[in-house]
Amino acid sequence: MSADKLLSRLHGVKANGAGKWVARCPAHDDKRPSLSIRETEDGTILLKCWAGCGGAEIVAAVGLTLAELFARPLPNRTPLRPGERWIPRDALKSLDMEATLLHLVATDIVAGLPLTPADVERVAVAALRFAAAASAVGVTDADRVEVGQQWLDKEWR
Ligand SMILES: [Zn+2]
Repeated sequence: MSADKLLSRLHGVKANGAGKWVARCPAHDDKRPSLSIRETEDGTILLKCWAGCGGAEIVAAVGLTLAELFARPLPNRTPLRPGERWIPRDALKSLDMEATLLHLVATDIVAGLPLTPADVERVAVAALRFAAAASAVGVTDADRVEVGQQWLDKEWR
């Protein structure tokens, strides 16, 4: 997806350097631009709301999906049988790499090494790639909310 498609759906958009913009976040009542948008060289769009909104909430608020933030859509295929979910090999390959990256970051944290803002941004990219892979195999936002709720119930009750 080109950044223009996203930018045209946002308010208070201002350029903030090459391939960078700020805008009012559509996922919360944003009085000043707290949403940073960046288009990477491969055309992937990165989002960061400084008030803490998640990527899925932000894109959903403007009628888009996380998968659309990626330059090349993940491959998909019609399930062979009703109810069957085909798992794209590329999605698993991507998760394998992202999980390795998260492990490296976790190792640094345990070793007491400080994370740079770029490290934190890269972890956000990993989260987006997990979400895109989940979308590619048919996980919906409603599924995500359900899993999140189950997790909260387990951890906090
Ligand atoms: Zn927000």
